[in-house]
Order: sequence, then structure tokens, then C-alpha cells
Amino acid sequence: MATKPVIISINEKLCKGADGCGLCLALCPKDVFKIAERLTARGIRPPRVDKITACTNCGNCMIYCPDMAIVVRLDEMPEAQAAAHAAE
Ligand code: SF4
Ligand code: SF4
Repeated sequence: MATKPVIISINEKLCKGADGCGLCLALCPKDVFKIAERLTARGIRPPRVDKITACTNCGNCMIYCPDMAIVVRLDEMPEAQAAAHAAE
């Protein structure tokens, strides 16, 4: 069954870095995250969303992130729906 589209927001100002923490990568059952290659201005490499379509909205990353840096929510207005609304 197809999962509903989600939006994953990562607050890089709150994240302590996937190198030092990495809980979201370790606890995601669908391997949605990878570590970003780039460094932020604070010198950390945050997680980046690699496979958003695999996300089941289980909430693990959001619940267990010690810095509350991740928010996962359902995309209430997927692109196709948004286009239909725009055409009305
Ligand atoms: S909500 Fe679950 S499946 Fe989605 S990115 Fe977070 S841990 Fe992975
Ligand atoms: S669990 Fe939170 S603090 Fe740790 S790497 Fe992921 S987003 Fe950053």
C-alpha cells in the first residue's frame, strides 16, 4: 500500500550533527536519511532526506531526536492536489 506523502523538516540550527549523534539515521526503519556531505555554518554535517517516498510517518526520528530538530508531518496538499486547486 502506498504511504501518504509527508514533509520532513530538519532544523540545522538545532541538530548537533549526524556524525556525533546520528540517532535519526540509526532509528529510521526505512533508511530515509543520509549524512549531508556539506558542513553547515556551525561546522556540523546534518542528516539529509534521501528517500522521502519511503517514509511511513512512524515518527521515530521526531520522537527520539534529542534536540527536537526534526518534524515529520503529512503533506495535506500534495502537488497534484495543489495543481488542481490552482486551476480552479
Ligand atoms: S517518520 Fe519514521 S520512516 Fe519517516 S523518516 Fe522518520 S523514522 Fe524514518
Ligand atoms: S537525531 Fe536530531 S540531533 Fe541527532 S543527528 Fe538526527 S536531527 Fe541531528
